[in-house]
Amino acid sequence: MNYHILKKDELDGFIKKLSKKMKVVAPVAKGTGNFAFQEVKAASEIALQYIPTILPPKKYFMPQREKMLDFDVSGAKPVDKAVVEAEEIAVFGVHTCDLAGIQCLNMVFSERPRDYNYLRRKDKIFLIGLECNDYCDENASCALVSSHIPSGGYDLFFTDLGDRFIIHVNTQKAEELVEGMGLARASHADTAALEKVREHKRSAFKNEVGVDPRKLPEIFAKGVKSKVWEDVGRRCVSCGNCTNVCPSCYCFDMADTINLDMKTGSRNRTWDSCQVETFAAVAGGENFREERSDRQRHRFYRKFKYSVDKFYRFFCTGCGRCTRTCMADISLKETLTSLVKENV
Ligand code: SF4
Ligand code: SF4
Repeated sequence: MNYHILKKDELDGFIKKLSKKMKVVAPVAKGTGNFAFQEVKAASEIALQYIPTILPPKKYFMPQREKMLDFDVSGAKPVDKAVVEAEEIAVFGVHTCDLAGIQCLNMVFSERPRDYNYLRRKDKIFLIGLECNDYCDENASCALVSSHIPSGGYDLFFTDLGDRFIIHVNTQKAEELVEGMGLARASHADTAALEKVREHKRSAFKNEVGVDPRKLPEIFAKGVKSKVWEDVGRRCVSCGNCTNVCPSCYCFDMADTINLDMKTGSRNRTWDSCQVETFAAVAGGENFREERSDRQRHRFYRKFKYSVDKFYRFFCTGCGRCTRTCMADISLKETLTSLVKENV
């Protein structure tokens, strides 16, 4: 097992050395109880204890706005040139729920036809996880989907052991970095302390919905006509916030913008949301999910049913962002609990 140790008072040196190699981003406090990933230059700027950031780190993998190509239609034959923008970034302090979200996106964008813009950016990102030793808040449901325990998807993974971090080195890139920094190897006492942290977590983090998660796809299969969807549909205002903040939502729109010369332009993609009324509108004026209840149902099925059918995993990582951000007070946990009660 490849574990190393970094004393807490050495974290600043670690961040500074890392930022000489590449841009470093990490969670930073933003007002009361809010956090955001942004560029940092020193450890003192980083919030080591934080509840999920306003936007997940997916913003570095698929930016909200992204140019895909430039085109020129002035000549006899139109020409276009693909644009792939990717910079080397170390994302420090990613919680396990967000690592799980990135694993979901990796599966989606690695499918054929592959999304080279996403994959190129992913290759350039150095991911450093940070364990939540304690439960974050009542909105999270990470224990339901087991995303509270690390299961890969990172280069390095930090766990706080009080006066020091134990660091799991998971990739060759990470091994080279750690060797270059001369970090000490973890002792038997350090790995025993790590096991204690995990033991504590297994009792402190409880399955928040009280249902065996393996039963969820079956419950969803029965719940297509549930009243739960009418209830959340009545309350939802279709703002799209829940999908924008979700670490595993990836829907996007593409649009061409023509410059004033009417000859050149660019193709750009932006985040989209299945909660917006026009999302499922098609030519001829048809809309496959005209009602808010249909769109809400779709959001939940994308997380707990369709993703299991296609990728054999839940696409909800239990981060709780959708509940935290919803102005209509729609709670993912409450919605699931009602659906479970109706359909077990
Ligand atoms: S955040 Fe709430 S109100 Fe907005 S679309 Fe999502 S469920 Fe509806
Ligand atoms: S559905 Fe909600 S709780 Fe689940 S991953 Fe998305 S934002 Fe987080």
